[in-house]
Amino acid sequence: MDLFSEQYPLEFISFGSGSSGNCYVLRRGTACILIDLGIGIRAFKRYLYQYGLHPRHFVAAFVTHDHTDHVKAIGKFAIETGIPVYSTELVHEGMKRNKFMTRKVPEAQVRTLEVGQSVSVSGISITAFPVPHDSRDCVGYFVQAGNASLCIATDVGAPTDEIRQALRQANYIVLEANYDLPMLATGRYPQFLKDRIRGGHGHLSNEETAELLAQTIHAETKHIWLCHLSEENNTPQQALKTVRDHLDKRQVSLPEHLVIEALPRTRPIELCRLE
Ligand SMILES: [Zn+2]
Ligand SMILES: [Zn+2]
Repeated sequence: MDLFSEQYPLEFISFGSGSSGNCYVLRRGTACILIDLGIGIRAFKRYLYQYGLHPRHFVAAFVTHDHTDHVKAIGKFAIETGIPVYSTELVHEGMKRNKFMTRKVPEAQVRTLEVGQSVSVSGISITAFPVPHDSRDCVGYFVQAGNASLCIATDVGAPTDEIRQALRQANYIVLEANYDLPMLATGRYPQFLKDRIRGGHGHLSNEETAELLAQTIHAETKHIWLCHLSEENNTPQQALKTVRDHLDKRQVSLPEHLVIEALPRTRPIELCRLE
């Protein structure tokens, strides 16, 4: 590991994950990068201050897709900080049309990126990859800094080769495990919503996530955070059990120090150093 990486490791925080709001922060040195801002701006700032962070530390924001639980406050934060906001042209179009985004990203701060294109900000390289979902467009992000690499794939309608490739290259993983199939099937959601969630452009079930991980876990996989768990159709215990049982059944050889945990829906996690 080079000295710069040791001095400035990549760090990761989740401030919220799920339909009530998604927000992740990456930090290297003093530079912070935002991935989605679907929680309220006041809660976000309160969390920042608790971590000793400040809006002025942010150098860029990246957006996965235009659903409100990912973008609600991104316009407000962009106006306040003046930072560039990266996503695909279609996601930016979707944000302009999203009625629940009361403040829009100022035109001068809109940065469009193509899938497969890498953007480098403050020593952090970020590459978008396509994710099937029922928004105008949806991307995951593959993040690299020093020896650390992180794959963020949320709101995943179906597993794809691009997602598998990103998971195989990453040693840290944030991957959706939205619902437990039996809980969704017998739950109180209306049929159209069950069909939407289960369809190829909805969300990943615990079982699908488990199989995706079984196909992609490698010797350098260090930490897996299951994200975007449904409040109605999943529990952290159920998601973790399904994943662990499936990896066991598939006889996947797990790296000795691999950590698998579920991200809390509405509270922050401790800052995690990705080494
Ligand atoms: Zn979402
Ligand atoms: Zn979504």
